[in-house]
Amino acid sequence: MALAPLVAPSAPLSAQEIERYARHVLIPDVGMQGQRRLKNARVLVVGAGGLGSPALIYLAAAGVGTIGVVDDDVVELSNLQRQVVHGVADVGRLKSESAEQSLASVNPLVRVVRHDVRIDSANALEIIAGYDLVVDGTDNFPTRYLLNDACVLLGKPHVWGSIFRFDGQTSVWWALHGPCYRCVFPEPPPPGLVPSCAEGGVLGVLCAAIGSIQAAEAVKLIVGIGDPLVGRLMVHDALRQSWDVLTVHRNPDCAVCGDNPTVTELVDYQDFCGVSPPTVAGMPAGSVPAAADGSVPLITAQELADQLSGKGAAPDEGAAPEVVLVDVRGSEERSIASIPGARAIHLDAFRSGEAVAKLPFDRPVVIHCRSGIRSEEAARILIAAGHLDVRSLEGGILAWVREVDHTLPAY
Ligand SMILES: [Zn+2]
Repeated sequence: MALAPLVAPSAPLSAQEIERYARHVLIPDVGMQGQRRLKNARVLVVGAGGLGSPALIYLAAAGVGTIGVVDDDVVELSNLQRQVVHGVADVGRLKSESAEQSLASVNPLVRVVRHDVRIDSANALEIIAGYDLVVDGTDNFPTRYLLNDACVLLGKPHVWGSIFRFDGQTSVWWALHGPCYRCVFPEPPPPGLVPSCAEGGVLGVLCAAIGSIQAAEAVKLIVGIGDPLVGRLMVHDALRQSWDVLTVHRNPDCAVCGDNPTVTELVDYQDFCGVSPPTVAGMPAGSVPAAADGSVPLITAQELADQLSGKGAAPDEGAAPEVVLVDVRGSEERSIASIPGARAIHLDAFRSGEAVAKLPFDRPVVIHCRSGIRSEEAARILIAAGHLDVRSLEGGILAWVREVDHTLPAY
């Protein structure tokens, strides 16, 4: 499906620009006009991470005139295995700031607009409205559905990519010409079912494969050449080194782009994806474990450290029963960082019911994972089984590394 160019040409290029972009200008399908369209284009890249890194670098090199970068995270050491727009000296800096500097070194003719915010329902439409298309480099379902819905509402192309371990997927969702993300993935998976790259890992170079396709699709849409990935979903397996193309269709019953849409404005995507269960922080051990709304009691890393070292109990309480600490992560994660004394019982064992029989019901149980999502699920299962003193470590082992044991690696 050939589509008209998304962007009108800019004013004529300078001699310096023509020299810089000569290899583009030489391609008949791009030419001087195409390069002027790129100069006039405004592309928003959401996430300056694994996918955003190659996309940003190539879009800047290609001469996309205005590149927006949305990211409110800072660069961490564990990002550098794949997020090639950042370097060692950038650890601790805002990713948007680091990306801005990298892009300036690649192509100072490009204007970089930083959005040092978390994109959400309150700001998404306003931010995206200023751009011609969105390159989605996000790593979580709430933001992905948010970007989809915002792009549908604004009529913009949503150049999407997704990666996990050796597997990548990419497509261009554009409700004006084909399906949107929700047409193909109407519901998010249950929270915790699909592990994130932070939990399950990702082959670093896979980001280059998928992110560079996203950049190529952006260039094609801007210039109006070739067949964009509208209505096609590319599925890549880096182990087999295979690329499969699935045809995907618009769903007339789609909640956002269908004939009778029920989503006509941005909603609460944390809620939609079920990733913001209400929680109660700081409940003392021995109190009613689960509130009536099904929330899980939390314990902070410092409180856990005090309990493990016996500092938790008041002097007149006598010896408190020893807390059982349970780690529900996988063995690879535990090999990176573990809290001493934690018992390894995988989340799957909670889901299957096996874990319940392995835990004492007469001692307090604290469950932890990486960031506190999976441990809440496990805690909820144990509470439902009748355990009266279960808590989830708020912020997971990342909080433990931050607040208690700085010698462990954060990942
Ligand atoms: Zn749709």
